[in-house]
Amino acid sequence: MTMSDDNGVVHHVAMLPSAGMGHLTPFLRLATFFLNHNIKVTLITPHPTHTPSESQLLSRFQSSFPQVNQINFNVESSLSTQSPNSHIAIPYFQMIDDIRTFAAKALSHLLSSLSPPLSFFVFDYFMLSSVLSITQSLSLPNYVLFTSSASFFALFSYFSTLPSSLSEHETVEIQGIPPIPISSISPYLLAPNSIFKKVFIEDSSQITKFDGFFINTFEALEHQLLEAVNAGKVLPGMPPLLPFGPFVPCEFEKEGDQWRKPLKWLDDQPRGSVVFANFGSTTEFGWDQIREIADGLVRSGIRFLLVVKDKKYFNEDDKKEEAGLEEVLGYELVDRVRDKGLVMKEWVYQSGILSHEAIGGFLSHCGWNSIVEAAWNGVPIFGWPQRGDQKMNAEVVERSGWGTWNKNWGWIGERLVTGEEIGDAIKVFMNNESFKIKASKIKVAARKARSVGGDCEVTLHKLFQK
Ligand code: UDP
Ligand code: UDP
Repeated sequence: MTMSDDNGVVHHVAMLPSAGMGHLTPFLRLATFFLNHNIKVTLITPHPTHTPSESQLLSRFQSSFPQVNQINFNVESSLSTQSPNSHIAIPYFQMIDDIRTFAAKALSHLLSSLSPPLSFFVFDYFMLSSVLSITQSLSLPNYVLFTSSASFFALFSYFSTLPSSLSEHETVEIQGIPPIPISSISPYLLAPNSIFKKVFIEDSSQITKFDGFFINTFEALEHQLLEAVNAGKVLPGMPPLLPFGPFVPCEFEKEGDQWRKPLKWLDDQPRGSVVFANFGSTTEFGWDQIREIADGLVRSGIRFLLVVKDKKYFNEDDKKEEAGLEEVLGYELVDRVRDKGLVMKEWVYQSGILSHEAIGGFLSHCGWNSIVEAAWNGVPIFGWPQRGDQKMNAEVVERSGWGTWNKNWGWIGERLVTGEEIGDAIKVFMNNESFKIKASKIKVAARKARSVGGDCEVTLHKLFQK
């Protein structure tokens, strides 16, 4: 059955995610929420995807929901035509650019040809300005899925009004929200001539022209931020910021039988005893840093599950390759980790791991999806933010008391964080009882927001009443 209003009109939503697992995953989770509420979904995705993980995830989604109208569009990049088979050879920013070009060229025709007519269109905040004129010319309600925290949204929405020489200040003061230390803002957003900064200014100056922003957060996690934005304190005339979180991990995300492997190991570990270390889909540490992390976890004396991704290199056929675990860690370290740890050098099903009762803490890069997944499972976080929005996300966790982060570890590659530092930090973190209590409370609130009649459903009903 498909959701329809009192006049029998079927609700139909089209969605356009951006590249990267951190963008695709929340889109598919939101799509699942719509589908579970009998809303028809059209999903528009670039082909080839940025990474093989994305295309695998998409095909599992398609098998689970054959009723979804899935439309692929070719990414006509100079790079992809040069090496059509080399899946991951298209650099990230090129890919984003290609999606924007596609939007400008083909989206208008595509959206207007969909049947039944769309109730609204949801797209990624990475393509804000490129899509606005299209939805406006079609008089189509436009909603943006902002794939980060409300905290980062506040900075984003205010960005075009900030002074240009930000780096001379110590903090950014925005009305209604806690001051943001300049050191927590990505250098990419501060550098005078950065492309990022230019796009942020351009996009944020358009913000009041949208019908609303969807966000993967919930009241108990970011009450103050949601309140400040929606009361117009951050920016007058702001469209509604609609919390649809926490986005819930879905069945189709599990890959074959592979995802069970770490869970089998966890089954043999005592309750709450293991720290899980994983740094998202794009963080690629150098080998020296990976060795310090493994060494630090051994030193902490705590049981651990570590997932490593190193810098890939190109082979003679122009394909990206990875080294084996022994090569990265060295045989001695491989030997030392065996006692208390499991190290994996592959994609793992993170949500499954976080839901295992043996997990007692999460050493995380603070990608927003990872934070919300930890909240959903009541797992305290030790943040080690690497880039982008991650320091601001780490602050959200610290402010609500279910984790902490070390402000001196720098952005990715800025300095080598030693095994000693990591070991000491993890030992103290895993013994902090207050984090555990607060994390359990966040979990209860997260589940409540997603329950029948909870905040997410209330938000959905308000949306369609409009
Ligand atoms: N993820 C996963 N296995 C991995 C690495 C990442 O399942 O080995 C998932 C993780 O659960 C999350 C997403 O990929 O849903 C990463 O998004 P996040 O916003 O945390 O970080 P990003 O990868 O965008 O930096
Ligand atoms: N990047 C990011 N978020 C993402 C994906 C990539 O911040 O979701 C970063 C990426 O890790 C790198 C930069 O953007 O530091 C530029 O990426 P590049 O064009 O080199 O793409 P790659 O082929 O390395 O993924």
